[in-house]
Amino acid sequence: MIKPLARFDHKSTQERPLMNSAVYKELLAVMQKRRGPYAGLDIPEFFDLVEELFTPEEAAVNNALSRRPETVEEIAKRSNREPGELRPILEAMASKGLCATFVAGGVRRYQGAPFMPGIFEYQFMAGRETPRDRKLANLIHAYKKAYDAAKGIEKIRFPVTRVIPVDKKIDAGNQIHTYDQVATYIEKYDSIGVGTCYCRHAAKLRGEDIHDMPMEVCLWFGRAADYMVERLGGRKVGKSEALALLDRSEEAGLIHMSRNTTEEIEFLCNCDRWHCEVVTKVLEQPKPGRIFNSGYQPLFDPDRCVSCGICIDRCPPGALAMGEDELPVADPDRCFGCGVCATGCPEEAVLLKPKPGFPPPPRNIKELVAGLKASSR
Ligand code: SF4
Ligand code: SF4
Ligand code: SF4
Repeated sequence: MIKPLARFDHKSTQERPLMNSAVYKELLAVMQKRRGPYAGLDIPEFFDLVEELFTPEEAAVNNALSRRPETVEEIAKRSNREPGELRPILEAMASKGLCATFVAGGVRRYQGAPFMPGIFEYQFMAGRETPRDRKLANLIHAYKKAYDAAKGIEKIRFPVTRVIPVDKKIDAGNQIHTYDQVATYIEKYDSIGVGTCYCRHAAKLRGEDIHDMPMEVCLWFGRAADYMVERLGGRKVGKSEALALLDRSEEAGLIHMSRNTTEEIEFLCNCDRWHCEVVTKVLEQPKPGRIFNSGYQPLFDPDRCVSCGICIDRCPPGALAMGEDELPVADPDRCFGCGVCATGCPEEAVLLKPKPGFPPPPRNIKELVAGLKASSR
C-alpha cells in the first residue's frame, strides 16, 4: 500500500511557500527534465500554473511517469503503488490532457508529457470556452511571458520545426521531394485527426483578435491522432476532408509547418504570424528565414505581375517589398519559402523554386537530435 499523500488545500498567494513544498517542487524538477520549450522554471508563475493544472494527487502521479510509454502495472511497480488505485487517476489525467495514452499490441500505455509540445496544446484542442479554460489560457500566457523575461530571447541554432511549401506552387520544372508535398502525409497515415488550433484558441480565450482565421486546422497522425480523438475532443477526418482543410488554410494565408524530420511526422500545423507560438518565436530571431524555411524561394514573373501588392500584405514574415521595377522582391533573411504569396496572387505570377545550397531536413528524430547537439557545441 502506498502512503496517503499529504493533504493540500487551495492556498492564497501569501501561503504559497506551504503549497509549494514537496509534490509541486518535485514536479518542477520533473518538468525541467522533460525539456522542450517552456520546460519547468522556478518562478512564481510556474506554481500558479501547475497548481491549477494538476491536483496534488495528479502531480504525484505525473512525477512518477516516464517519457517511455508504460502499462499501469509497470508504473505502479516502479512507484510502489497499487495498479487498481493508479488506473482511474491515470485515466482522468489522460482525459484532461495531463499525460498521453494509447493502446499498442492490445495493451493500454501511459506516457508523461512535456509542456510543449504536449500538455499546453492538449488543454485547448477541444475548443472549449469555459471559465477554467480562460483561466488556464491566462496562466499559461503569464508563465511564458515570465519565462521569456527571465531567460531572454534564446537563439535558435538548429530548427526543430520546418515549413512545408505550398507544393502546387512549386515550379513544375523542379524535382519535388515527397517530404515537400503536404498531401504525402495525408496519404501516408490511415488515422488522421483534426483539433482546434491551440495558439489561436488560447489567444481567443485571452480576449485577443484572431483575425477570422480557420480554427479547426491542427492535423495529427497515427497514434497521436488516436489519442487526440479519443480523449481531447478532436475528431477523425478522412483523407479528402484533410486535403480540403489544407486548401482552406492556404486560402487564409496560413503556413504549413511540422517537425523538422521527413520520415515520420505526428502533426501538421497551419500557422499564422500573430499567434502561432512557433512563428512568433522565430520572428524574434535576427534572420528568421535562415532557421525556419521550406528550402524554396518565390520567383516573380514580370510578364504576369500587375504590382497590386497583395503578396506583400499576405507575406507572414514581412519579407516582401516592391522593387524598383515594380516587381516584389523577397528578403532571403526573412523569407520562409512558405508560398503564401503565391496562393494569394490573383495573376498567378508567383512560383516557388528551390533555394540553392539549402540542406535537406533530418530524416528522423535521431538525426534531428544529432543536429541539435552539434549546433549547441
Ligand atoms: S503551431 Fe500553428 S496550427 Fe499549431 S496550434 Fe500553433 S498556430 Fe495553431
Ligand atoms: S500579388 Fe501577384 S500580381 Fe500582385 S504584386 Fe504580388 S506577384 Fe504581382
Ligand atoms: S515571400 Fe513571404 S509569403 Fe512568399 S514564400 Fe517568402 S515568406 Fe512566404
